[in-house]
Amino acid sequence: MESHEHDVLIIGGGGAGLRAAIELGESYPQLRIAVLSKVYPMRSHTVAAEGGAAAVTKANDSLDRHAYDTVSGSDWLGDQDVIEVFVKEAPGEMVRLEHWGCPWSREPDGHVAVRPFGGMQIERTWFAADKTGFHMLHTLYQTALKFTSIKWYDEYFVTKILVEDGRCQGVAAIEMLTGQVYALLARSVILCTGGAGRLFPFTTNGAIKTGDGMALAYRAGVPLKDMEFVQYHPTGLPGTGILITEAARGEGGILVNKDGYRYLQDYGLGPPDPWPRLRAMELGPRDRLSQAFAHEDAKGRTIPGPYGTVVHLDVRHLGEAKINKKLPFVRELATNYAGIDPVREPIPVRPVVHYMMGGVDTNINAATVLPGLFAAGECACLSLNGSNRLGSNSLTELLVFGRRAARAAAQFALGHQRVASEAVKLQAQPEQQRIASNFIRKQGGTERIATVRQEMTKALESGAGIYRTEESLRKTCSTIARLKERFQNIQLDDRSVSFNTELMSALELEFMLDVAQALAHSALRRTESRGSHQRTDYPARDDKNFLKHSLAFRTDGEPRIEYKDVVITRWPPGERVYGK
Ligand SMILES: Cc1cc2nc3c(=O)[nH]c(=O)nc-3n(C[C@H](O)[C@H](O)[C@H](O)COP(=O)(O)OP(=O)(O)OC[C@H]3O[C@@H](n4cnc5c(N)ncnc54)[C@H](O)[C@@H]3O)c2cc1C
Repeated sequence: MESHEHDVLIIGGGGAGLRAAIELGESYPQLRIAVLSKVYPMRSHTVAAEGGAAAVTKANDSLDRHAYDTVSGSDWLGDQDVIEVFVKEAPGEMVRLEHWGCPWSREPDGHVAVRPFGGMQIERTWFAADKTGFHMLHTLYQTALKFTSIKWYDEYFVTKILVEDGRCQGVAAIEMLTGQVYALLARSVILCTGGAGRLFPFTTNGAIKTGDGMALAYRAGVPLKDMEFVQYHPTGLPGTGILITEAARGEGGILVNKDGYRYLQDYGLGPPDPWPRLRAMELGPRDRLSQAFAHEDAKGRTIPGPYGTVVHLDVRHLGEAKINKKLPFVRELATNYAGIDPVREPIPVRPVVHYMMGGVDTNINAATVLPGLFAAGECACLSLNGSNRLGSNSLTELLVFGRRAARAAAQFALGHQRVASEAVKLQAQPEQQRIASNFIRKQGGTERIATVRQEMTKALESGAGIYRTEESLRKTCSTIARLKERFQNIQLDDRSVSFNTELMSALELEFMLDVAQALAHSALRRTESRGSHQRTDYPARDDKNFLKHSLAFRTDGEPRIEYKDVVITRWPPGERVYGK
């Protein structure tokens, strides 16, 4: 088995991974760093982010206000120590990005421009037109490339975390060009593998967002935290699921039903005028807006279309000049993918799966319970977002916690001896064997990847969607269990070693089935409604029993679910009030 040794391995070349890499390159030049990514880093999902990144900048804003918005947005499930660190470190990160060359949009007087975003009581979302993620990722990548201490493993697919002596000591990864499995050894590993929106049939997420890092950690004994909380974004294009950014509403876009009525006023989100009103109406939080759509739909007040019912997002009143300046990508996407020009017509939209609040359980320094393993970005659950993430907090999270993870992983690497290479390599060896016999050389399987995947996404959407019940969740749990069995009988047609994308799809599906099971069981056990987790059979929030994080542990059968307390520092649980 061929192997390479490094000090710190970063899995993932998205925003979190690249921010971690820069910190290691800059502050720990003596460490040998490697970044592995299953796609070329600029193809990571961060590139698709549109609306912006939140950080306090205006004189009349404050860290406490940003913290409060995040706490209440999370429906009190966010850990408040994490939230306080986040809002404090966020502004410095944004300025650092500016110094590295990120072209933030500006006001005519030269100040950085900020726009309103859902659930925020003041404008604090920094943006680069409506292609923020593209500019951020470019900035991070070009900065990271400067460091000679970083080795890049582009198009390497990680299949296993290597654990020896009770700590994480590297990963097994397939070089996609050759099909060869390598043991990549390290003193510490940071997972920055992104989210898992592809668990659902209708999602804004790129095809690579299959929860790999979550499943890798889960299989290595690390619990997945708060997996039941899945964010539906209220405005996706029907059919493709392409996102129409919240910035469209931040700039003044409105949502209307089939009668042209601004229905959000019927769902506790306040009177429509004067407009724009922060933390109200179209600038309410995403969970509430997606739930309002479901109610309008049930009342028959949505508009039928070829890809399901829709409502209209209307930005026409903003005028062509403003749309071209602030929302050029919205215009491009609506024109290309919905065949309508938003300058002249309203955009058809419906809720779409967008973001996983849950993920690999970590502490405030991004450390997991497995020594030497860290996680940051969307794959991690530091408990910043609780049961509902506020739009534009995620991009900033990548920066703040990518950096913190790097520091913690560097300290760990510096404090631990070199790896026991031979024993660790032995851990990787069975991977080549497993992949060959279970997939590439396997004969006689009768199940197809696409069928199993489709049934999985359908089971999650129908049983664990915007609204859930005990009955729907039980059904989903048993479907997933059956699909896991059927997966054992999967058959591939492609036996090639070079860029075997069918093999990658099979491995991704295997990851997704693990994550889906954790999600469905966590949702079944949480018998309350909070944020994005809405149980029609338990419609109230239950702080007495569930002001707690759920932890799903992998077993040979169903996941074991445990709970741990939420950290409350300064904001005792209160009512979530919007629209006032
Ligand atoms: C369309 C869209 C728009 C968004 N807009 C905004 C916004 O405006 N503001 C905001 O705050 N948030 C936004 N979000 C959310 C935010 O962009 C994401 O949460 C964030 O970019 C995730 O970054 P990440 O670094 O965690 O992971 P990603 O950018 O998803 O990168 C994951 C990396 O992990 C690698 N990887 C994964 N699995 C493996 C494996 N098995 N082996 C090797 N490598 C692997 C991938 O190759 C990739 O490099 C948006 C999300 C979407 C989908």
